[in-house]
Amino acid sequence: MDILIPEQRVPVLLDCDVLVCGGGAAGVAAAVSAARHGAEVVLIERWPRVGGMLTCALVNIWHRSDREKVVINGLVEEATQRAMAAGWGEAYPLPEGRHETHRFDPEGMTLVFHRMLDEAGVRVLCYTVAGEPIVEDGRLRGVLVDTKCGRRAIVARIVIDATGDGDIAAKAGLPFELGREADGRVQGMTMMYRLCGLDEDRLAELSADEREAIGECMLAAIRDGDLPPSKTAQPCGYRNRSIPNMCPVAGDPLDEEELTRLTVLGRERVFRFLEWWRERVPGFGAAQVEQTGFSLGIRESRRITARTTLTAEMVLGAHKQPDAIGHGIWMIDIHDPLGSGYTTWCDRGDDNIVPRGDSYHIPLGMCLNEAIPNLAVAGRCASSTHEGHSSVRVQTHCMVMGQGVGTCAAMALASGVEPADVPVADLQQHLRADGVYLEDVPGGV
Ligand SMILES: Cc1cc2nc3c(=O)[nH]c(=O)nc-3n(C[C@H](O)[C@H](O)[C@H](O)COP(=O)(O)OP(=O)(O)OC[C@H]3O[C@@H](n4cnc5c(N)ncnc54)[C@H](O)[C@@H]3O)c2cc1C
Repeated sequence: MDILIPEQRVPVLLDCDVLVCGGGAAGVAAAVSAARHGAEVVLIERWPRVGGMLTCALVNIWHRSDREKVVINGLVEEATQRAMAAGWGEAYPLPEGRHETHRFDPEGMTLVFHRMLDEAGVRVLCYTVAGEPIVEDGRLRGVLVDTKCGRRAIVARIVIDATGDGDIAAKAGLPFELGREADGRVQGMTMMYRLCGLDEDRLAELSADEREAIGECMLAAIRDGDLPPSKTAQPCGYRNRSIPNMCPVAGDPLDEEELTRLTVLGRERVFRFLEWWRERVPGFGAAQVEQTGFSLGIRESRRITARTTLTAEMVLGAHKQPDAIGHGIWMIDIHDPLGSGYTTWCDRGDDNIVPRGDSYHIPLGMCLNEAIPNLAVAGRCASSTHEGHSSVRVQTHCMVMGQGVGTCAAMALASGVEPADVPVADLQQHLRADGVYLEDVPGGV
């Protein structure tokens, strides 16, 4: 059954140069860079804070090196430094041959992102869902939002869809892909959470044998179905405020009712693990869940088809692209779409990892389409195969895309051309001047 909505006159709430829909890592980077390059920018975010998966799903780990040197800088470096200076980040240099790691306090990173937006002069509207795109003559005129006072329009000269799900691009009619080729299922999702009340001294007393025995016992309970599925069984390594990545669920990221069910299921499982540990792991007797993700952690959703589609071959072959806007280093990292917790991360040896000391290029073409010239995408909804996506979806890479697309949008407006017509060498020059690492561009300077 359908319902016919009568024609409606909608007041314009805001009129801007660049409208960024979605305030995750990609959207924040896009908005900040467009504003710093002179555009009037509005960012709308459906949740009460920006940061997306980082701040609302507690996904707080960044990787930036090709396992020899750091190759992701720009706004990623700036946000890292700001968080570290405020005591909201920790750096973990990993053993020889592995990626370095930064972990952030999601609360702190929320403030870092909001401060960067405010300082850049971006108008930020949280609690605002980007609803229907307004398409006129093959261009995007803006987006409709439903406010407390009724339906309003935000009009813009360029729109950047950084919703993670590609909501605006898909509703505007751009083609997209969803999930893996075989059955359309997307990567597993995870309910992240934060622990407190651990007796760290007691945990530190456990011998290697005791730790191993607890891990074995936990794996057996998972195998026997006494505990929910998980690939991880190392509770003895947890500390207060640890954020374990271990409660997988699987389903459709575009079905709100299913997402609600999975979110509740994820939380139930967190408490099931905690109950088991309290009974069996010394040091866990008074442990509590300090916080669960405000949202379920969603890894994959629509991938909007664009001029260039990033593939596993491009990732693993460390392909270089003429329209590069930055570098990517992450591996083919697919979490089982059936929710077992299995991941290709560690299980496929060197087959699924970018060669050490090398990196692939993230092309601007992933974000620009042929059909609607003033609409770009950035972040995990950019154009990639299921496998290519599993690498480029990580936050540092999403921010590289955001910075590239935001800068490009401001340059396009300044010179009165479409984003796709911005001379790519000029864009790359601006990005380098803004601290982005950009080397080995074919035919480049
Ligand atoms: C469990 C888990 C573990 C992960 N581990 C890591 C890791 O260790 N390191 C790493 O770097 N990456 C990791 N990732 C991947 C990474 O977190 C995401 O891919 C990345 O955050 C995507 O950034 P984004 O800005 O594209 O999208 P998101 O972070 O999803 O942000 C999208 C934003 O848009 C908003 N939005 C959506 N629809 C609308 C709308 N219609 N209107 C207004 N706002 C809207 C959302 O509320 C959200 O704030 C992990 C992901 C998960 C789920």
